Amino acid sequence: MRTILLAHVKRVVIKIGSGVISNDDGLDLDRIATICEDVHKLRQRGYEVILVSSAAVAAGKADLGIVGKPKTIPLKQAAAAIGQSRLMRAYKDSLRQYNLKAGQILLTRDDLANRRRYLNARNTLMTLLEYGIVPIINENDSVVIDEIRFGDNDNLSAMTTNLVEAQLLVILSDVDGLYDSDPRKNPAARLVSEVERLTPEIEAMAGNEDTDLGTGGMITKLKAAKRATLFGAGTAIINGRTPHNLLYLFDGHELGTYFLPARDPMAARKHWIAFTKKPKGKLILDHGAQEAVTERGKSLLPSGIYQLEGTFERGDAVRICDLNGIEFAKGVTNYTSAELVRILGKKTKEIEGILGYQYGDEVVHRDNMVINT
Ligand code: GLU
Repeated sequence: MRTILLAHVKRVVIKIGSGVISNDDGLDLDRIATICEDVHKLRQRGYEVILVSSAAVAAGKADLGIVGKPKTIPLKQAAAAIGQSRLMRAYKDSLRQYNLKAGQILLTRDDLANRRRYLNARNTLMTLLEYGIVPIINENDSVVIDEIRFGDNDNLSAMTTNLVEAQLLVILSDVDGLYDSDPRKNPAARLVSEVERLTPEIEAMAGNEDTDLGTGGMITKLKAAKRATLFGAGTAIINGRTPHNLLYLFDGHELGTYFLPARDPMAARKHWIAFTKKPKGKLILDHGAQEAVTERGKSLLPSGIYQLEGTFERGDAVRICDLNGIEFAKGVTNYTSAELVRILGKKTKEIEGILGYQYGDEVVHRDNMVINT
């Protein structure tokens, strides 16, 4: 029994994959209905539930005469435009039977990479929860372009877990969980029931399989689990095709793979810097500064910067690199690239004399920096 691991959970993000709620003909309304029944029961038990649902593309593609995956991005986007409202309708119809209402939020990576928009999205979600509405999130597939895509809903669900500060992420998949080798090729493959730390050995178990309808295979699920657990949320990957598995998980049954939350979780803001904010440039540090930052927990001062690359504004994220240009941390810069060109290598007390003003002693404050693990 796993009840102990769920004892502290109040708010849960549930990711529902295309492979779970769709088939070749479009949406699988029965599965959506069963999941909604479970959502209702979880809410009765006092959990706050946020859904991240895929299958907009799967729900719309038949109208374009597409069988299998859409071959081009415009076709995928058109299919999502058709399917997203159908997907929401299916959820709304099912939830209505339990007197539950749903609210749709479509996000792009840009919405979360900008701190103001991130906080705004968060406010909207919190308001929906406060009013007892079930938020249903998807990527804004029909307008999104490559640079601002999450890419897959596994990643989006991990970002959402951070956004709403949920204690648990449940990924409903079309497989039972993580196996130690590919179960389709190796009949002796064993399901891994618990992962304490996502080591490279565990990551290697994911192989490189892909599903027909969804974007993510096990690799993107492990990445999502890594992000969510680093933020302090446990992550479960379970088979969402088996009716009521979601409820069984909360009943304490040991199913799927459960990833324990990291022992020293990152604060939500640091998590956002590390995983959501897109770096705009590079700061190359000398050895002394690298050591001060990594070993002694210091902020980054202009004197430690040897070189920089890229054009960035104050408040942008930057990669913090060693003399070989290898990234070892990320941070949010207090100075623009144009300002930094003038003050790099200089002492803190010289900043004001050179620029005529100063935003603070640090180029990247410790609180706005995340060392890569
Ligand atoms: N957002 C896509 C959809 O709704 C799915 C992306 C994914 O499969 O991860 O169809």
